[in-house]
Amino acid sequence: MSAGPVLSVRDLTVSVARDEGWRPIVDGVSFDLQAGQILGLVGESGSGKSMTCRALMRLLPGARLAITGGSIRLGEEELTALDEAAMRKVRGGQIGMIFQNPSSHLDPVMTIGAQIAETIRFHQGASRREAMRQAIEVLRQVGIPDPTARAGSYPHEFSGGMRQRAMIAVALACQPKVLIADEPTTALDVTVQAQILRLLLDLRDSKGLSIIFITHDLGVVSQTCDSIAVMYGGRLAELGPKRDIIRAARHPYTAGLIRCQPGAAATGTYLETIPGQPPTVDAMPSGCRFHPRCPRAGETCREHQPAFISVDLGHRAACHFPEGPGQEAAR
Ligand code: SF4
Repeated sequence: MSAGPVLSVRDLTVSVARDEGWRPIVDGVSFDLQAGQILGLVGESGSGKSMTCRALMRLLPGARLAITGGSIRLGEEELTALDEAAMRKVRGGQIGMIFQNPSSHLDPVMTIGAQIAETIRFHQGASRREAMRQAIEVLRQVGIPDPTARAGSYPHEFSGGMRQRAMIAVALACQPKVLIADEPTTALDVTVQAQILRLLLDLRDSKGLSIIFITHDLGVVSQTCDSIAVMYGGRLAELGPKRDIIRAARHPYTAGLIRCQPGAAATGTYLETIPGQPPTVDAMPSGCRFHPRCPRAGETCREHQPAFISVDLGHRAACHFPEGPGQEAAR
């Protein structure tokens, strides 16, 4: 009997309070994350990808944002039903999170070793000595050279890449099942970015870690992820195995994103862009939210929201005309 998903998200809805009531900014998002899987969550700025992951951690910024529907199951535990004290144990204990800018998430006046050890003491109740021993071991696992000495360094004494490794060490201190990585390599130069991506792949392989990788960069996704979820206007546009999505995207938005990647343009030609702007929560188009920008849009698209239908094995798309390669649908 195969084990179920590590994380199962169903119809997750996050809304923002407006004078007239709640408006969804993440709208009915569903996906599963399997053990050892890396899922890339992709979309333009404002698509809802970061907000989805903050909701998984129950870390929505501001009192006007709330989870207003759906379910988040971590193993047997329903996270939407936990109180804040229980969620604090989940954060860092069972789900770790890393961000684009480690400096704003590492304490500047605490040594790196002490920050990791504090997390271990909070979640596992280890003694100071044991927590520091484990902290040094985690620093070694994330590739910090001479970890015993570097545990006594402060964040400003580390380079950008080393700080990112240190933040990964804090996130992994208590051996979480799931790591949420929110644009973790965006601020790094290409060489260090490649090293951090390699480290995440090694951690997946050695620890069976499941990772949700949030990014706007499909190049990073194609190097790293097993599956891809594409978000647009707060909804999932497409979800499936990486190979199928990169080779045969069925949703016009995904196809547009792929054409916008630097490697997609022939030498000497201009990169394509998707015309128009993504919608905002207060001005969502009717029907399919992508229709004002979609080259395939028909009358149906303007009036009816497409269902998130299966287009192939394990591959779903929210489109009335999810054409395969070479197909022309009648509109
Ligand atoms: Fe384009 Fe219509 Fe598909 Fe939306 S439903 S992506 S507008 S073809």
